[in-house]
Amino acid sequence: MTALLDARGVVKRFGGLTAVDGVNISVGAGELVGLIGPNGSGKTTLFDCLSRVSAIDSGSISFDGVDITRRRPHQVARLGLARTFQLIRVYRELTVSENMELSIQWRRIGTTRLFGRTDAATRRRVESLLEFLMLSRLRHERAGALSGGQRRLLEIGMALMSEPRLLLLDEATSGVNPTLVSEIADRLQEVNSNGVAILLVEHNVGFVAELCHRVVVLDRGAKLAEGTPSQVMADPAVIEAYFGAEGE
Ligand code: ADP
Ligand code: MG
Repeated sequence: MTALLDARGVVKRFGGLTAVDGVNISVGAGELVGLIGPNGSGKTTLFDCLSRVSAIDSGSISFDGVDITRRRPHQVARLGLARTFQLIRVYRELTVSENMELSIQWRRIGTTRLFGRTDAATRRRVESLLEFLMLSRLRHERAGALSGGQRRLLEIGMALMSEPRLLLLDEATSGVNPTLVSEIADRLQEVNSNGVAILLVEHNVGFVAELCHRVVVLDRGAKLAEGTPSQVMADPAVIEAYFGAEGE
């Protein structure tokens, strides 16, 4: 099987710190993969590299057979790779619908400066995604008025606007109350069952175990383990990385 996303030997340094240290990671079409690891292990930095938000120091990244190592973020978005951010990026002063409309304009032209007219097809897609994400009744609310969980859902909706084939989600459950966490899990499962591959960064290990087909574990910038959720959770090296420091 050829991978949809295939990254080889990715290295990212910040001065003297190697935040991502030669990571190989791939995601197959339609796969749901979890990326876990202790705080500071390089998960968000790796996402920044994969989505081309950050330049890498060495390695290569391909998406659907296209070398994207030197592409710009909006170019890879157009190829079908969309992402969310650990720190939510919605325009708080704009409404829920406006945020959704704006997200697709950015993907088309690489800038959010031009807020032109929205076509009927885009409006229909906004409506159906808001329905799917239980945000319809909030469509005219300012995004800044939403709860943490609703804002996560909005961000997922914004990423889905461009009909991606791969969705990178960074901490989709942080700051979300438990009821909404299971709703988010259900929605992601449905998105995935419609053929969208997902790579999920999570601190909530239970969420990953429930949802993911395969899990990759990072520790200090390097890949520590990879396998099914149960294989990974039973791996002594993984237990050590998570709990070793506290002596548990
Ligand atoms: P995670 O998402 O797994 O918690 P990060 O990717 O955010 O980890 O961070 C990995 C390491 O890189 C940490 O040591 C962090 O302090 C460092 N780091 C992340 N971003 C920057 C940056 N912009 N400048 C310097 N160091 C950074
Ligand atoms: Mg992070």
